[in-house]
Amino acid sequence: MTAFRSSQSYATQFPQLARACQPTPVIAPQWLAFNHALADELAWPSAWRDTQAGLELFAGNTLPSWVTPHALAYAGHQFAHFVPQLGDGRALLLTEVELDDQGQQRVDVQLKGAGRTPFSRGGDGRSALGPVLREYLVSEAMHALGIPTTRALAAVLTGEQVQRETALPGAILTRVAASHLRVGTAQYVLHQQQFELLKTFMDYVIQRHYPHLTQADEPYLALLEEVQNRQAALIAQWMSIGFIHGVMNTDNMTLSGETIDYGPCAFMEAYHPATKFSFIDKQGRYAYQNQPAIGLWNMARFAETLLPLLGDETTSVAQATAVLEEFQPTYEQHYWQLMCAKIGLEFTPAAQQLVQRYLNLMQAYQVDYTLAFRVLADGDVQRAAPLFQHQDDWQLWYQDWQQQVTPQAVAQLAQRNPAYIPRNHLVERAIQEASQSGDLTYFNRLQQILAHPYEERLECQAELQPARPDQAVTHTFC
Ligand code: AMP
Ligand code: MG
Ligand code: MG
Repeated sequence: MTAFRSSQSYATQFPQLARACQPTPVIAPQWLAFNHALADELAWPSAWRDTQAGLELFAGNTLPSWVTPHALAYAGHQFAHFVPQLGDGRALLLTEVELDDQGQQRVDVQLKGAGRTPFSRGGDGRSALGPVLREYLVSEAMHALGIPTTRALAAVLTGEQVQRETALPGAILTRVAASHLRVGTAQYVLHQQQFELLKTFMDYVIQRHYPHLTQADEPYLALLEEVQNRQAALIAQWMSIGFIHGVMNTDNMTLSGETIDYGPCAFMEAYHPATKFSFIDKQGRYAYQNQPAIGLWNMARFAETLLPLLGDETTSVAQATAVLEEFQPTYEQHYWQLMCAKIGLEFTPAAQQLVQRYLNLMQAYQVDYTLAFRVLADGDVQRAAPLFQHQDDWQLWYQDWQQQVTPQAVAQLAQRNPAYIPRNHLVERAIQEASQSGDLTYFNRLQQILAHPYEERLECQAELQPARPDQAVTHTFC
């Protein structure tokens, strides 16, 4: 562990892409959560942890001298519609923390909900308590599941109300990310029509996230390949755990390959490929089964930003197209490998077929996706058979599976198939209790359960189960 070192490389190097901006102080900050494990990873100074000074910092009230807040500019396609300027409307990059002595590896620390910025447009720059708790719980759960994601360092109440449909308690999340550079950031840079800026921006992305590409023959083409590989792998991981991001706009897709922006995201319960939750996603553009195709669509938008840096006009398009054609096969490779592993098999055509048959059964009997895989780890049919109503087609599948899988592989399934995911109704309960009576008991309990998603615990039986019809959350909101 190196000593705490903080700097602001991006805002310093790209003044055109960042605006210095102070948080708006809040009346009466109060603690919601502080992530000690993450703070340790950052060597975050103890004076600014769960102390009064930390509370004032994470509320945006009193900042230490090493914090130089900036709002970052970006553009983006929102539901396929291009918006040339979005930017941090309610977020401020506080600082970058250097994770090694060379300053090679660094992460962003950002306040989300700290007041208006030059990019706020009509918005208030604030966040309500619900979305802050949701992002805290879900992003940390994703991390515990081994999925690349932004993290949550702290959450505080502001003591102020925010006006949404009704007045709600306000809160601020402190988010940690490999960086906040998005496909939408590259689009913003392209839109400036300055060749030199585009080149130095992409060089920065390479330096920060893909330093091994510095020596590549065609570094910008290689950058497209690498970002695409990470996104294809990431989306395969989402699919394998039933995660639906909900708003895969190009401004919500990172160049680092981390999951970002936990808005209307949700986990699928009963398996169905067309599942969607987001209230604003009327057409189901970002439904579960569409996520890989949207990933490719977003990569095509990223490829467009790189074209001026590739060869002449005809060869650059051909080069980029050849890379994009690899998205689907790369994704499929990751996805089927993960899915076959969920039933304890290597990726072969036979295993693939077995997975597909299992998914079909889940769909036919409306079985919970997470539970259906988890019960395979039991080594018997006690919990599994009732899920499928003891039907013959299920028995047949189970027999076929038993013939292909080894007991050793079954013994490992409990480490592959989580028992606990942030089920929508559980997250909702944590939010409701915190919002209505300031009671954080369930939020804290859920956090602890989700920190160990593979460890089934007797006292956490309810959290294994999907929502009852009266608990079901059918729509989520930004
Ligand atoms: P999102 O849907 O979270 O990806 O946000 C899309 C855009 O809206 C980003 O530019 C945000 O900064 C901006 N935005 C979202 N909520 C607010 C808010 N309460 N105040 C100002 N800007 C916001
Ligand atoms: Mg966003
Ligand atoms: Mg959002």
